[in-house]
This record gives sequence, C-alpha cells and structure tokens, in this order.
Amino acid sequence: VFSHVVRGPEDPILGVTVAYNKDPSPVKLNLGVGAYRTEEGKPLVLNVVRKAEQLLVNDRSRVKEYLPITGLAEFNKLSAKLMFGANCPAIQENRVTTVQCLSGTGSLRVGAEFLAKHHHQRTIYIPQPTWGNHPKIFTLAGLSVKTYRYYDPATRGLNFQGLVEDLNSAPSGAIVLLHACAHNPTGVDPTFQQWEQIRKLMRSKGLMPFFDSAYQGFASGSLDADAQPVRMFVADGGELLLAQSYAKNMGLYGERIGALSIVCKTADVAGRVESQLKLVIRPMYSNPPIHGASIVAAILKDRDLYNEWTIELKAMADRIISMRQKLFEALHARGTPGDWSHIVKQIGMFTFTGLNTKQVAFMTKEYHIYMTSDGRISMAGLSSKTVPHLADAMHAAVKR
Ligand code: PMP
Repeated sequence: VFSHVVRGPEDPILGVTVAYNKDPSPVKLNLGVGAYRTEEGKPLVLNVVRKAEQLLVNDRSRVKEYLPITGLAEFNKLSAKLMFGANCPAIQENRVTTVQCLSGTGSLRVGAEFLAKHHHQRTIYIPQPTWGNHPKIFTLAGLSVKTYRYYDPATRGLNFQGLVEDLNSAPSGAIVLLHACAHNPTGVDPTFQQWEQIRKLMRSKGLMPFFDSAYQGFASGSLDADAQPVRMFVADGGELLLAQSYAKNMGLYGERIGALSIVCKTADVAGRVESQLKLVIRPMYSNPPIHGASIVAAILKDRDLYNEWTIELKAMADRIISMRQKLFEALHARGTPGDWSHIVKQIGMFTFTGLNTKQVAFMTKEYHIYMTSDGRISMAGLSSKTVPHLADAMHAAVKR
C-alpha cells in the first residue's frame, strides 16, 4: 500500500552531514551543522553538565515518574528568569507562563499551534533569510507565513529600511518572528538603537513578537547582554512569546531541552493561556522528558555551577570569535579578492560568507568542505588547524 510513496528530499541542513559522512577524504571538514566543536574538532560536553549529571545520578531519591504536561516547574521558573532577568516585573506579577518543550524547535511549534488556535491574526512574518526550519514549523502549525526584508547582500549587513517598511505594511496583530540574538544564517543583528525602533514600531502597530532564542550567551559571551533585546520588549509591559533552546549554550543538543514562555497582560490571562498550552501539548507528546530539564535546573539554581557555566560558555563564544579573526587574516594573507570584513563583524555561530551555490559546490568537490548551499559556514566547526584549508578553498573558489 505504500508503493506510491516518493522519496522525500534530505533536510538542507542535516543533509550536509549525511553527505559529509559518506566522504572518505581525510581532509574533509563539516561546517554545515551548527554544533560546537573543540580545537581538536571534537564535540564538547561541558564540565558543568558532567557535574550536574553526577549530582543527579547520586541522588537516589530521584524517580522516573512522568513530569506534568508543562514539564519540570523549577526548570520553567529558572528559564524565564534567565531570559527576562531576576527582577522582571512580569515574572513578579505572575504574568508569564513557561512550559518545558522539546528544545527550540518544539517550543516554536507549541507556541505556533497556540497562536493558530487563539490569536486573531494568523499570519507570521519571518526574516528573509531565516533558519530553514522556521517556515515549515509555522506552516504545519497552521499559520500563514510571509517574509520581511532583513539582509542586504550588497552591504552584507541589515536592511533596516526594508525591515521597517515591511513591518509597517504588515496587518495589525500579525506575528513577527525575531531572532533574539546571533541571527541564523546571516550573523547580522540589529543594534540596540535599531531594536528600540523595531519595538516602538511593533507596539504602535500591535504586532505580536515571537522571539526565537537559540544562542543566548553565544553571541557576546554574556547571557545578560544577549537577552537585552527581549528584555526591552518585556519592559514595556506588552505581550510576547519566547522560544528558548539549551542546545547550543549548554551543549545539550540531543537532550532536546527548551522552553516556551508567553508574557501576558495579567496573571489571570497567563493562567488561562497555560491551560490552553496543555491542550496543545497533551495530544502531541503528552509530557516532556526529564533528564535535560533536570540538568539545566541543577545548573541554574546553584550559584557555583551557574558561574562555572558562564565561564565555559564564554570560552566557547571566545573561541568562535577568534576563528573569525583567524579566517579573516588567512584570506587577507592570501590576497583573496573581496572585502571580508563581514567575517569579523558578524555575530554568533555562523558566517554568511557571500559565497554562491556554485562556489560552495566547488569547495565541496575539490576541497571536501561541507556547508549549506547559501554559503553559511559554522565558525564553531573550525579550528586553528583547519582555517588554512578553508582559506585555500575560499581563495580558489572566488578566483575561478
Ligand atoms: N532557532 C534557530 C534560529 C536555530 O538556529 C536553531 C538550531 N539550529 C533552533 C531554533 C532550534 O534548535 P533546537 O531545536 O535544536 O533547539
């Protein structure tokens, strides 16, 4: 009965790793997936995560019972505090509901399903370009997806005027997906002044912010600094949604741990919103897994572990920033044609190189370097040893 089923396409991002795994070359390099690697090119489990796991294993009182539909309550509280800040009035006034979800993706999906059911305006505006999974998540959740201008290839920076024009002409009440920091794939973020203008414009038009935070702490190395844009929107007393992921900043990728928060006008509304989130979650996966939430809660609630985490997080962010500098210098040393200053200016895990599909294909074929076809490279996958190989490949690709 399934003989009519046609083969679906490989995921454009995860498919890069599939192709990489098949390549027998000893010099092959995977810069496709946004997962942190050490200088030795190895995946990293944070020390603080190992410590938290040890604490959990040693605690014989822990059981494997189901969590509530909304997840681990302590994890939810701590996650909201991490993004909104310890003294956030919305938290103190119980206007925030937070539910544990399956990493960033699951948080986006649950938030989108809630909006599709309960928000009067079902159109969501996503930046052009954006993370490739966004349009699929929102469409399948029942929202209608439109884009707003974001990136300007000519300047390799923000198209702020285009962004403002597009948000200005969006219908009142429309949802707007905003990358909280370290925009993926471009590495281009608005300045704080621009964020303030975006906030004013969105509030004046009644547009609903849906923040996607997959990189808190990864952009600047500071959890508080990276939370600033979201905190600006919370401080004005208005509503918003927030999807948080601990995949990158705690290196908990496969634990699938994240949270969805909805900031409401009153505690009463927040309570009703939470009751509806439970109705979204229960038939989808019943309740979330316990392990990742327990790790995160153990780290966030203990001052020593928290401090240790911030140090390890900053080390990851700093290594990425130093890779930007090294790659920029390597291209400069080779006299590679073009202005490559965007490599050091862009923020977060990725560099949007400006290389085109043909150049990317050439680099994969001739140099065994794997990346998404839009020319996005994960700086976290680079090391001092591999920078020269990448610079050689880029040099050859643009000289062709
Ligand atoms: N949003 C953005 C912008 C991302 O880059 C990612 C991870 N690549 C996610 C959300 C979600 O990732 P995860 O589901 O692994 O937390």
